[in-house]
Amino acid sequence: MTTNKFNPQKYIITENIPQFQKFMQSDNVTALSLYSHLTYNDLMVLKSGRRRDIIRVPSNKFDIENGLVSMVQYLAPAQHVSGLNVCRFASEGCKKSCLGYTGRMALNVERTYVQKTIALYLHTEKYLTDLLNDLDTECYAYAKEDKFVYLRLNGLSDLPFDLVIDFDLLFEDIPNFLGGYDYTKKPVNDQTINHHYTYSWNERSTLQIANRFDRVAYVVLKKDKVRLMSEYPDIFTDGNISDIRPKDITRHVLLPFKGKVTDNDFVMSYDAMVGLLGLDNKECVK
Ligand code: SF4
Repeated sequence: MTTNKFNPQKYIITENIPQFQKFMQSDNVTALSLYSHLTYNDLMVLKSGRRRDIIRVPSNKFDIENGLVSMVQYLAPAQHVSGLNVCRFASEGCKKSCLGYTGRMALNVERTYVQKTIALYLHTEKYLTDLLNDLDTECYAYAKEDKFVYLRLNGLSDLPFDLVIDFDLLFEDIPNFLGGYDYTKKPVNDQTINHHYTYSWNERSTLQIANRFDRVAYVVLKKDKVRLMSEYPDIFTDGNISDIRPKDITRHVLLPFKGKVTDNDFVMSYDAMVGLLGLDNKECVK
């Protein structure tokens, strides 16, 4: 079991931090002139003296009942923080429908995720140190309940955390840590044994890109998700039942769009899904 001898530095790939920071920038002059005076404590420590949480557990009953916990990090999405861009591969459609702007998370984006994003950019090593210490503490606590832990660092971002965190070593050293997983719109699959990527279909996608991934997620209207699940249960997984994509049984995952009817091409219709996957030639179960 992990112990208080846990050394987060062992898992941080410090030589890649400048490259990671550069990846986060959309305009380094703006980013540095706006934020360089801010200390880690300015950004991450609350008036009460408590540090902001970096990762948290979304309440997914199905996963928890099955002994699995997913720890998720949320940042301020896309170019919400001036000078930075944490979703380099975002499409116009996904930015419009992003959960960071549409649901309850919008408030958190303003209140806390902005500060976390700037802290990750300016004080990357310190931030990652706290993140890994928190992961170790959570894994230790969940081990006592016989639960296994996954880490999803891009809850509202699409950053190359593999550059700066050694997921393989973490997997080796923490007995109940099962690895990382994320959604990505990057057209290249950087998946490793201990960090899984699900491709997030968007209006710029092609089947050729999607075929590089063993999981593809589509955002669909709720009513279309219900219809596709009932007609093609062997083709699709309902992405709401579990949060943990590497455990899915089918390759295609449906995520419900939480907003109202949209003309946004990022949100797929029933007809678009059937056409894209050639399902009109397959017999549906109804
Ligand atoms: S890539 Fe994901 S997190 Fe980023 S803007 Fe698009 S939907 Fe939001």
